[in-house]
Amino acid sequence: MSTNAPTILIVGGVAGGASAAARARRMHEAARIVIFERDSYVSFANCGLPYYLGGEITDRDELLIAKPSLFKRRFDIEVRTRHEVTGIDRAAREITVKDLDADDSYRMGYDKLILAPGADPLVPPLPGIEAAGVFTLRNLEDTDRIAEAMPDAQRAVVVGGGYVGLETAEQFRRRGLQVALVEMQSQVLPLHDPEMVEPLHRQLEFNGVRLELGNGIASVEEQHGRAVAVVLSDGTRLPADLVLLAIGVRPNVALAEAAGIELGESRGIATDEYMRTNDPDIYAVGDAAEYTYGPTGAKQRVALAGPANRTGRLAGQHAVTGSSRPAPAAWGTSIVRVFGTSSGMTGLSLKAAKAAGYEACATHVIANNHAGYYPGAQAMIVKLVFEEGTGVVLGAQACGGEGVDKRLDVISTVTHFGGTVHDIVQLDLAYAPPFGSAKDPVHMAAFAAQNHLDGLAPVVQPDVDLCPYQVVDVRAAAEVEALPLAECDQIINIPLDKLRDRLDELDRSLPTIVACRSGLRSYVGTRILKQHGFEEVYNLSGATAMREF
Ligand code: FAD
Repeated sequence: MSTNAPTILIVGGVAGGASAAARARRMHEAARIVIFERDSYVSFANCGLPYYLGGEITDRDELLIAKPSLFKRRFDIEVRTRHEVTGIDRAAREITVKDLDADDSYRMGYDKLILAPGADPLVPPLPGIEAAGVFTLRNLEDTDRIAEAMPDAQRAVVVGGGYVGLETAEQFRRRGLQVALVEMQSQVLPLHDPEMVEPLHRQLEFNGVRLELGNGIASVEEQHGRAVAVVLSDGTRLPADLVLLAIGVRPNVALAEAAGIELGESRGIATDEYMRTNDPDIYAVGDAAEYTYGPTGAKQRVALAGPANRTGRLAGQHAVTGSSRPAPAAWGTSIVRVFGTSSGMTGLSLKAAKAAGYEACATHVIANNHAGYYPGAQAMIVKLVFEEGTGVVLGAQACGGEGVDKRLDVISTVTHFGGTVHDIVQLDLAYAPPFGSAKDPVHMAAFAAQNHLDGLAPVVQPDVDLCPYQVVDVRAAAEVEALPLAECDQIINIPLDKLRDRLDELDRSLPTIVACRSGLRSYVGTRILKQHGFEEVYNLSGATAMREF
């Protein structure tokens, strides 16, 4: 064992910090490794906190993945909880640590320092925001406070329609609370394309969540220091015994910034491919750090557990050995469950792809998670976003029942390797009736994309203005009556199986859109028209299914 064993100090002991510490030990048996954590717990399951509040996870101890005693026993890692790192002296390679219980500070030297301080929930400076009964959810202490307040609460207002807000709203309903969900944007999950979250809006309302979209929080009304209502920007007053703020996070960068460590454009700690900061002896990982963002190559923050764990592992190795493979790009692959409907994304949405300057297009398919004839099949929508011309996959979104996660993971794997829709078409995926279909939903989405790129069946998006087109709705008359396509005069209903016989009712010279429920019959219709001399024909991607899913 080396006598020159390095001292590795780690700030923050949860996702990134704990991963870094464990990997460092596995790579260097003699290193001195110390984790400093300002809270009372390390290595806990942040992502499980909503499910503990809702009672799906019943044993609080299950949230504690590795306790300090395990770190010591198994990894010989010293954990100092309730110790906050308050300063970094880069010249001396020392940190200053405050023992929060003893109210005492001391200094400690390092060879390598790993910053994994995470992020804190945003708390907007609004009237009443400090009232009792207003909470944020980031750690176990927050969870305990909310759990204590819940038995006396009947009405909860959740502010923020991101993952944490949605999960917590679901879990509050599970506990029988009346729940209102407030989101300033016109949709929940603002990173997703609007049509892809419509099913979530319906699911939330169906399950009794009052949705307040496009309406921000203006103030918290309090009585005797306790929150009694949330007042929104349009004056709406939502009575509340419990308010959860889940409007995003702010990276904990003050410690790094004060030490002259550079921040990037996204105000996360700037890092190189080995997660080193501008000081080669200091690494940064997790929510406080910047990653290379896969779809654009830009440096930005991606506040998710996967990248935090993986970059922590990488930095832990690099810090003790001086080498590691470079950090891969982060694609922001994420998923949330909202009352039985799952929704997730990887990479860019169509709106984000366009905003990033891509000439991008998307296909939507509605398909089952496994063979329809096998009992229990559940439907999902998959939206595949790709670059025109090259077919490079830029991202995907999926929403539905079982199997949404699998499709996102398949597509995320393709994007990781810079793959195209043509690559997805060729993927050899596991299939038997209880598991999937011989043509999987990801294949179907890629077929549609390939047909678009090859000019066989070009798509238009579900929000297209139909009015300038000749529109052929190839659904059955009863379907059209139940759910008309849109307010538009030029819609001609010809059920698909009659299309060849009724071509004379259509004008071959007009730009034409073919529509159905899911985009499948309209694809067949598009091919029929194209092969019968119609000059310009498009398939309406997603079609009416987006409105009824
Ligand atoms: P953290 O896990 O936050 O750890 C940072 C730690 O550093 C904190 O404990 C903090 O107290 C400590 N610290 C900060 N400053 C100092 C200091 N100066 N000295 C000492 N200690 C310090 N992500 C997903 O991918 N999927 C999910 O389903 C998911 N669900 C989530 C649900 C909830 C309720 C929350 C809050 C987050 C969820 N996340 C999820 C996000 C995920 O938990 C974070 O991305 C991840 O924990 C980030 O890891 P980190 O190590 O950077 O920060």
